[in-house]
Amino acid sequence: MQRRGLLIILSSPSGAGKSTLARRLMAWDPTLRFSVSATTRAPREGEVDGREYYFRSHAQFEAMVAAGEMLEHAEVFGHFYGSPRAPVEAAMAEGRDTLFDIDWQGGQQIRNSALGKDVVSVFILPPSIAELERRLRTRGQDSDAVIRGRMAKSEAEISHWAEYDYVLVNDDLDAAEARLKTVLMAERMRRDRQPGLSEFVRGLNREFEAR
Ligand code: ADP
Ligand code: 5GP
Repeated sequence: MQRRGLLIILSSPSGAGKSTLARRLMAWDPTLRFSVSATTRAPREGEVDGREYYFRSHAQFEAMVAAGEMLEHAEVFGHFYGSPRAPVEAAMAEGRDTLFDIDWQGGQQIRNSALGKDVVSVFILPPSIAELERRLRTRGQDSDAVIRGRMAKSEAEISHWAEYDYVLVNDDLDAAEARLKTVLMAERMRRDRQPGLSEFVRGLNREFEAR
Protein backbone atom coordinates (compact mmCIF):
# COMPACT_ATOMS: atom_id res chain seq x y z
CA MET A 1 0.00 0.00 0.00
CA GLN A 2 1.81 3.14 -1.14
CA ARG A 3 2.04 6.00 1.29
CA ARG A 4 2.59 9.73 0.84
CA GLY A 5 6.18 10.70 1.60
CA LEU A 6 6.74 12.72 4.77
CA LEU A 7 9.04 15.66 5.33
CA ILE A 8 10.50 15.20 8.80
CA ILE A 9 12.07 18.40 10.06
CA LEU A 10 14.48 18.31 12.98
CA SER A 11 15.52 21.62 14.53
CA SER A 12 17.35 22.49 17.73
CA PRO A 13 19.94 24.86 19.08
CA SER A 14 23.38 23.89 17.79
CA GLY A 15 24.81 21.03 19.86
CA ALA A 16 21.50 19.63 21.18
CA GLY A 17 22.02 16.47 19.13
CA LYS A 18 19.95 16.66 15.96
CA SER A 19 22.70 15.37 13.63
CA THR A 20 23.34 12.46 15.99
CA LEU A 21 19.64 11.61 16.15
CA ALA A 22 19.29 12.03 12.38
CA ARG A 23 22.16 9.58 11.80
CA ARG A 24 20.57 7.03 14.14
CA LEU A 25 17.20 7.37 12.43
CA MET A 26 18.81 6.83 9.02
CA ALA A 27 20.64 3.72 10.27
CA TRP A 28 17.37 2.36 11.65
CA ASP A 29 15.43 2.96 8.43
CA PRO A 30 17.55 2.97 5.27
CA THR A 31 14.52 4.00 3.16
CA LEU A 32 14.72 7.47 4.74
CA ARG A 33 16.37 10.07 2.55
CA PHE A 34 18.50 12.72 4.24
CA SER A 35 18.15 16.14 2.66
CA VAL A 36 21.75 17.21 2.03
CA SER A 37 21.76 21.00 2.29
CA ALA A 38 23.93 23.44 0.40
CA THR A 39 25.97 25.82 2.53
CA THR A 40 28.50 28.59 2.14
CA ARG A 41 30.26 27.63 5.38
CA ALA A 42 33.62 25.86 5.22
CA PRO A 43 33.70 22.07 5.74
CA ARG A 44 34.59 20.79 9.21
CA GLU A 45 37.23 18.13 9.52
CA GLY A 46 35.82 14.85 8.23
CA GLU A 47 32.92 16.44 6.35
CA VAL A 48 32.62 15.34 2.74
CA ASP A 49 31.12 17.40 -0.08
CA GLY A 50 27.80 15.85 -1.07
CA ARG A 51 27.49 13.80 2.15
CA GLU A 52 27.07 16.25 5.05
CA TYR A 53 26.59 19.29 2.81
CA TYR A 54 27.15 20.60 -0.68
CA PHE A 55 29.86 23.15 0.07
CA ARG A 56 29.33 26.05 -2.31
CA SER A 57 30.67 29.56 -2.85
CA HIS A 58 28.48 32.53 -2.17
CA ALA A 59 28.00 33.12 -5.91
CA GLN A 60 27.08 29.47 -6.55
CA PHE A 61 24.59 29.55 -3.69
CA GLU A 62 22.94 32.73 -4.96
CA ALA A 63 22.65 31.22 -8.44
CA MET A 64 20.85 28.17 -7.00
CA VAL A 65 18.40 30.43 -5.16
CA ALA A 66 17.83 32.61 -8.24
CA ALA A 67 17.13 29.50 -10.35
CA GLY A 68 14.42 28.43 -7.87
CA GLU A 69 16.37 25.29 -6.94
CA MET A 70 15.92 25.77 -3.17
CA LEU A 71 12.90 24.59 -1.23
CA GLU A 72 13.96 27.00 1.52
CA HIS A 73 17.08 28.92 2.46
CA ALA A 74 18.25 31.10 5.30
CA GLU A 75 21.23 32.80 6.81
CA VAL A 76 22.41 30.99 9.94
CA PHE A 77 25.46 32.02 11.99
CA GLY A 78 26.63 34.33 9.19
CA HIS A 79 26.52 31.69 6.44
CA PHE A 80 23.87 30.68 3.93
CA TYR A 81 22.17 27.29 4.12
CA GLY A 82 19.45 25.87 1.90
CA SER A 83 17.62 22.65 1.04
CA PRO A 84 17.72 21.65 -2.65
CA ARG A 85 14.22 21.03 -3.98
CA ALA A 86 14.75 18.30 -6.62
CA PRO A 87 15.77 15.38 -4.32
CA VAL A 88 12.81 16.10 -2.03
CA GLU A 89 10.34 16.05 -4.91
CA ALA A 90 11.88 12.82 -6.23
CA ALA A 91 11.60 11.16 -2.79
CA MET A 92 7.98 12.26 -2.41
CA ALA A 93 7.09 10.90 -5.83
CA GLU A 94 8.43 7.51 -4.69
CA GLY A 95 6.50 7.69 -1.41
CA ARG A 96 9.74 8.01 0.56
CA ASP A 97 10.28 10.15 3.63
CA THR A 98 12.89 12.90 3.72
CA LEU A 99 14.72 13.97 6.87
CA PHE A 100 15.80 17.60 7.27
CA ASP A 101 18.31 18.99 9.76
CA ILE A 102 17.50 22.69 9.39
CA ASP A 103 16.93 25.74 11.58
CA TRP A 104 13.61 27.33 12.59
CA GLN A 105 13.62 29.68 9.56
CA GLY A 106 13.82 26.75 7.16
CA GLY A 107 11.18 24.90 9.19
CA GLN A 108 8.81 27.85 8.89
CA GLN A 109 9.37 28.19 5.14
CA ILE A 110 8.65 24.52 4.41
CA ARG A 111 5.66 24.44 6.76
CA ASN A 112 4.19 27.48 4.96
CA SER A 113 4.86 26.05 1.48
CA ALA A 114 2.62 23.84 -0.66
CA LEU A 115 4.30 20.85 1.02
CA GLY A 116 3.20 21.98 4.50
CA LYS A 117 0.62 19.22 4.93
CA ASP A 118 3.33 16.59 4.54
CA VAL A 119 5.55 18.07 7.25
CA VAL A 120 6.18 16.51 10.64
CA SER A 121 8.34 18.84 12.70
CA VAL A 122 10.32 17.91 15.79
CA PHE A 123 12.17 20.33 18.04
CA ILE A 124 15.00 18.93 20.12
CA LEU A 125 15.84 20.56 23.43
CA PRO A 126 18.99 19.99 25.49
CA PRO A 127 18.45 18.90 29.12
CA SER A 128 20.16 22.11 30.27
CA ILE A 129 22.14 25.02 28.85
CA ALA A 130 25.26 23.88 30.71
CA GLU A 131 24.97 20.48 28.99
CA LEU A 132 24.41 22.17 25.62
CA GLU A 133 27.70 24.03 26.00
CA ARG A 134 29.47 20.87 27.17
CA ARG A 135 28.26 19.03 24.03
CA LEU A 136 29.41 21.82 21.74
CA ARG A 137 32.82 21.70 23.39
CA THR A 138 33.18 17.91 23.43
CA ARG A 139 32.20 17.75 19.74
CA GLY A 140 35.57 19.48 19.40
CA GLN A 141 34.98 20.71 15.88
CA ASP A 142 34.47 24.41 16.39
CA SER A 143 36.73 27.17 17.69
CA ASP A 144 36.05 28.93 20.96
CA ALA A 145 34.71 31.98 19.12
CA VAL A 146 32.35 29.86 17.00
CA ILE A 147 31.09 28.05 20.11
CA ARG A 148 30.45 31.34 21.89
CA GLY A 149 28.58 32.61 18.83
CA ARG A 150 26.42 29.49 18.71
CA MET A 151 25.67 29.62 22.43
CA ALA A 152 24.62 33.26 22.04
CA LYS A 153 22.12 32.26 19.32
CA SER A 154 20.72 29.23 21.11
CA GLU A 155 18.23 31.24 23.14
CA ALA A 156 16.71 32.67 19.96
CA GLU A 157 16.52 29.20 18.33
CA ILE A 158 14.88 27.73 21.44
CA SER A 159 12.27 30.53 21.42
CA HIS A 160 10.68 28.80 18.37
CA TRP A 161 10.00 25.50 20.15
CA ALA A 162 6.22 26.00 20.22
CA GLU A 163 6.00 26.14 16.40
CA TYR A 164 6.84 22.42 16.19
CA ASP A 165 4.48 19.43 16.20
CA TYR A 166 6.64 17.48 18.66
CA VAL A 167 9.24 18.47 21.22
CA LEU A 168 11.71 16.08 22.77
CA VAL A 169 14.38 16.61 25.37
CA ASN A 170 17.58 14.86 24.31
CA ASP A 171 18.75 13.76 27.76
CA ASP A 172 19.57 10.08 27.34
CA LEU A 173 20.43 9.47 23.69
CA ASP A 174 18.88 5.98 23.44
CA ALA A 175 15.65 7.22 25.05
CA ALA A 176 15.49 10.26 22.75
CA GLU A 177 16.08 8.02 19.71
CA ALA A 178 13.25 5.70 20.82
CA ARG A 179 10.89 8.67 21.22
CA LEU A 180 11.79 9.98 17.78
CA LYS A 181 11.11 6.59 16.19
CA THR A 182 7.73 6.46 17.95
CA VAL A 183 6.79 9.82 16.40
CA LEU A 184 7.78 8.63 12.95
CA MET A 185 5.95 5.32 13.25
CA ALA A 186 2.75 7.01 14.44
CA GLU A 187 2.86 9.73 11.78
CA ARG A 188 3.26 7.14 9.04
CA MET A 189 0.04 5.49 10.17
CA ARG A 190 -2.13 8.62 9.94
CA ARG A 191 -5.20 7.87 7.86
CA ASP A 192 -4.64 10.71 5.39
CA ARG A 193 -1.09 9.50 4.71
CA GLN A 194 -2.28 6.10 3.48
CA PRO A 195 -4.01 6.76 0.15
CA GLY A 196 -4.52 3.05 -0.51
CA LEU A 197 -6.61 2.58 2.60
CA SER A 198 -10.08 3.09 1.04
CA GLU A 199 -9.35 0.44 -1.57
CA PHE A 200 -8.03 -1.91 1.10
CA VAL A 201 -11.20 -1.53 3.18
CA ARG A 202 -13.35 -2.00 0.06
CA GLY A 203 -11.52 -5.31 -0.37
CA LEU A 204 -12.39 -6.28 3.21
CA ASN A 205 -16.03 -5.42 2.50
CA ARG A 206 -16.05 -7.54 -0.64
CA GLU A 207 -14.72 -10.38 1.47
CA PHE A 208 -17.62 -9.88 3.93
CA GLU A 209 -20.13 -9.95 1.08
CA ALA A 210 -18.66 -13.15 -0.33
CA ARG A 211 -19.09 -15.03 2.96
P1 ADP B 1 23.64 19.27 16.52
O1 ADP B 1 23.53 18.50 15.23
O2 ADP B 1 22.30 19.55 17.13
O3 ADP B 1 24.48 20.50 16.42
P2 ADP B 1 25.28 16.98 17.39
O4 ADP B 1 24.41 15.84 16.99
O5 ADP B 1 26.49 17.29 16.57
O6 ADP B 1 24.39 18.31 17.59
O7 ADP B 1 25.69 16.71 18.93
C1 ADP B 1 26.61 17.56 19.61
C2 ADP B 1 27.52 16.68 20.49
O8 ADP B 1 26.75 16.13 21.57
C3 ADP B 1 28.14 15.50 19.75
O9 ADP B 1 29.47 15.32 20.20
C4 ADP B 1 27.25 14.32 20.15
O10 ADP B 1 27.94 13.11 20.15
C5 ADP B 1 26.83 14.71 21.59
N1 ADP B 1 25.50 14.21 22.00
C6 ADP B 1 24.36 14.18 21.26
N2 ADP B 1 23.32 13.69 21.99
C7 ADP B 1 23.81 13.41 23.21
C8 ADP B 1 23.24 12.87 24.43
N3 ADP B 1 21.95 12.53 24.52
N4 ADP B 1 24.06 12.72 25.49
C9 ADP B 1 25.37 13.06 25.42
N5 ADP B 1 25.97 13.56 24.32
C10 ADP B 1 25.21 13.74 23.23
P1 5GP C 1 26.06 23.47 11.14
O1 5GP C 1 26.90 24.58 10.60
O2 5GP C 1 26.34 23.22 12.62
O3 5GP C 1 26.12 22.21 10.32
O4 5GP C 1 24.54 23.96 11.06
C1 5GP C 1 24.18 25.19 11.61
C2 5GP C 1 22.68 25.36 11.60
O5 5GP C 1 22.20 25.47 10.26
C3 5GP C 1 21.92 24.19 12.24
O6 5GP C 1 20.87 24.75 13.03
C4 5GP C 1 21.32 23.49 11.05
O7 5GP C 1 20.12 22.82 11.37
C5 5GP C 1 21.07 24.66 10.11
N1 5GP C 1 20.93 24.22 8.72
C6 5GP C 1 21.63 23.24 8.09
N2 5GP C 1 21.21 23.12 6.82
C7 5GP C 1 20.20 24.02 6.65
C8 5GP C 1 19.33 24.33 5.56
O8 5GP C 1 19.40 23.78 4.47
N3 5GP C 1 18.42 25.32 5.77
C9 5GP C 1 18.31 25.97 6.96
N4 5GP C 1 17.35 26.91 7.06
N5 5GP C 1 19.09 25.69 8.01
C10 5GP C 1 20.03 24.72 7.86
